[in-house]
Amino acid sequence: MIPNDPRVQVAATCRGLATYGLGSDIGGHVSVRAPGEDAYWINAIDRTFEEMTPDAIVKLDYEGNLLDGDHPVSLGADFHEGIYAHRPDVAAIVHSHGPWITSLCALNRPVKVWHNLSSFFAGECVMSDDDTFEAIAPGLGQRSTILIPYHGAITVSESLARAAALHVTLEYAAELDVRMSSIPDAVPMQEPMVSRVKALVTKAGYLDLTFDLIMRRAADHIEAAGEDWLSREEVRA
Ligand SMILES: [Zn+2]
Repeated sequence: MIPNDPRVQVAATCRGLATYGLGSDIGGHVSVRAPGEDAYWINAIDRTFEEMTPDAIVKLDYEGNLLDGDHPVSLGADFHEGIYAHRPDVAAIVHSHGPWITSLCALNRPVKVWHNLSSFFAGECVMSDDDTFEAIAPGLGQRSTILIPYHGAITVSESLARAAALHVTLEYAAELDVRMSSIPDAVPMQEPMVSRVKALVTKAGYLDLTFDLIMRRAADHIEAAGEDWLSREEVRA
């Protein structure tokens, strides 16, 4: 289990996501709700996911005021407060411009189920009308995943582990979907198989196992950079 410090948790998640090709450029955010407050912790905009460290994680209130930390935040981060205000069940939000996710967003439709793991998004993925604060939180509704046209995706959950694991899984599902979209005779998975498979991968604990993997990859990335704020031993414990 990683240390119970939101700065470490958010920064480690950014580093883990980077190992999947989800954060080598400026942009993308990971946030966690500050329990009991109208506030959240989020990564700064002046570093990539690959470069993120706990000191670059800041705390904002729902008006965008900086409560803790001294780094600048993305001007596009306001949808976090919108989602936290609309969804009391959501404790974490992940947003990236993953290359396959962004390619899928240009198709202007939710992801199709081409593999067992894509079933996590069946009935849980929606396309936003646009990338505005006003469109995203209402468009998401009670789902876990929203695609932003020509931009990227947002995954949300009651835990950071699930939001991050969903995001990595979405990049994989998006790659399959974009590749398969050019094959005329291909038919995506249909019900009732989708529901049966979704129950199976849920029971198997796939998302929890995926977050454990994200943290191992994060720890390796941090150690390889010569930093010492998270080790493999800590994420294994
Ligand atoms: Zn973005």
